[in-house]
Amino acid sequence: MINIVLFGKPGAGKGTQAEFLKEKYNLVHLSTGDIFRFNMKNGTELGNLAKSYIDKGDLVPDEVTTNMLIDAVNANPEAKGFLFDGYPRTISQAEALDAFLTSKGTENTATIALEADDNILVARLLERGKTSGRVDDQDEDKIRNRYQEYNEKTAPLMDYYKKQGKFHAVDGIGEISEITERLSSVIDNL
Ligand code: ADP
Repeated sequence: MINIVLFGKPGAGKGTQAEFLKEKYNLVHLSTGDIFRFNMKNGTELGNLAKSYIDKGDLVPDEVTTNMLIDAVNANPEAKGFLFDGYPRTISQAEALDAFLTSKGTENTATIALEADDNILVARLLERGKTSGRVDDQDEDKIRNRYQEYNEKTAPLMDYYKKQGKFHAVDGIGEISEITERLSSVIDNL
């Protein structure tokens, strides 16, 4: 089983690349952002709770997110491996993921970061906001808040995974297919 954590700032292209990688490596793609948006659209209790955080650009509380992620993994007992996109985003989530995967007799194989400059990313998100319908993409203050959340809570995960010898980074700027190649060469050498 290979399990990959796709890591990167908002707008880095995790979702775009996940679409290619899941096919290539036969992985189940779990995007916490997508699961939250599905729940928001359907007005579930989880969706209504998440919305109050997401629309401001804040992270959803760890316990809520982790329980949701665990349910999503358990809903795919036949999976050959998982591609985690948008999870973990805090140290507590990373610890929960490690403990959970260990309890399933598996582990996180590697964390791969897509790197890109903040200014490029903010511009990408504002552009995406014109068509995505996402409230959190439409306002520069909310986007900046997501970067602040990232810098405070998510960036420390790089050291967490470096200490485990599992951190890899690729340049996230370029043609989509070139970036898929860069990610693939990391995965093929694991
Ligand atoms: P992006 O990475 O482009 O900001 P996502 O679609 O991954 O967007 O996530 C959208 C929002 O969903 C985040 O800003 C956050 O509010 C919430 N969210 C997603 N994943 C998590 C997580 N692991 N922990 C807490 N909140 C999360």
